[in-house]
Amino acid sequence: MVRKEIMKRLVHKYGGTSLASIARIKKVADRVAKWRDSVPEVVVVVSAMAGETNRLIDLGESLSENPNRRAMDQVVASGEQVSAGLLTIALMDLGYDAISYCGWQVKMITDGNHGKARILKIENNRLEEDLGKGRIVVVTGFQGVTEKSEAISTLGRGGSDTSAVALAASLNADECLIYTDVDGVYTTDPRIEPEARRLNEITFEEMLEMSSLGSKVLQIRSVEFGGKYKVRTRVLSSLKDPKLSIKDELSCSTLIIQEEDRNMEEALISGIACNRDEAKITIPGVPDTPGIAHKILGPIAEANIDVDMIIQNAGIDGLTDFSFTVPRIDLTRATERLEKKVIDEIGAKTLHTDKNICKVSIIGIGMRSSVGVASKMFEVLSKEGINIKMISTSEIKISVVLEDKYMELAVRTLHAAFGLREA
Ligand code: ASP
Ligand code: MG
Repeated sequence: MVRKEIMKRLVHKYGGTSLASIARIKKVADRVAKWRDSVPEVVVVVSAMAGETNRLIDLGESLSENPNRRAMDQVVASGEQVSAGLLTIALMDLGYDAISYCGWQVKMITDGNHGKARILKIENNRLEEDLGKGRIVVVTGFQGVTEKSEAISTLGRGGSDTSAVALAASLNADECLIYTDVDGVYTTDPRIEPEARRLNEITFEEMLEMSSLGSKVLQIRSVEFGGKYKVRTRVLSSLKDPKLSIKDELSCSTLIIQEEDRNMEEALISGIACNRDEAKITIPGVPDTPGIAHKILGPIAEANIDVDMIIQNAGIDGLTDFSFTVPRIDLTRATERLEKKVIDEIGAKTLHTDKNICKVSIIGIGMRSSVGVASKMFEVLSKEGINIKMISTSEIKISVVLEDKYMELAVRTLHAAFGLREA
């Protein structure tokens, strides 16, 4: 959807792949310059050059198994400082007035949770002043400064998306354009289903589900932020020719919208997400008494392990099987905890784990007003002979856990069955 009104103030965000080399930084500069020619106020938020954040993390971790988090933030935040400076040099070399800032200079104020900080507020007087003078403002993503001790903080991996959306909210920008290596949000992962289609629009809520269920396009927190503060957020590709007209750029993107702005005739299902990030734990023969779920999951929560799906169904013999999923990387930690503390205490005998699972989810706001979506999903899977191990639903999504080898087949069959191929 191309907007009719004139845009006056925009935030652009460029990810690491878009800034991976000097040649790509020049391309970004060309693109920003083109936009600046028709939009008076442009702010650019940058990630570190591709691979740089990983390199910096490795450096810190090579010195200590448990590096100090405040010091680590000082190290990893430097990647964005470099790319912000480089982009500014490139823009100035094209003859544009530009200035770069780190998060602490802006200031992007965060809480003190180093490595996973949350933005509390943004003091953007300096940026307003520069924008007023017609300057392109380049800001480091991923970082801020802690409110109490004025230390450099970082927002967690992928945090530049959140920096950009937060800045767009605080500057009251007309739009936040997130440039990345794909040209939008797809009905599903195109590597799994080549017929996946770019969506012109998706609602924040659907995007939130897509992000938490496996789509890697945007950091989840940025989507939450955008939804909460109603920031028009658009995902588009930085790999296309920077000379492409603005109109053409906009027509090949995905706009994330508020539900009330959505076209009512949209499809039942907007997208399919999938991942192999989880593992299943089952404790059979658990006595069906009050407090059992808490006894099992309490120690898991204490270890800071996220539990996703949970299934408990009381049998007629007073015993129940208790199953749940945890991130695959936390499986060993979770089972160790359970074996040490829980199994004996609750009178269970064993515990089974299953790493060979995947989760496939269908997502769509259209589900709110329709019945039979779940049964259609189950029918489609059963026709392919795919067994469902677990199910969970919310108002706008249905997730199933399947044997891991069926993930691609399930995604493709559901994609076709729900009519996601045709535009
Ligand atoms: N450079 C940081 C990372 O790699 C932040 C970002 O790219 O958004 O996670
Ligand atoms: Mg990213």
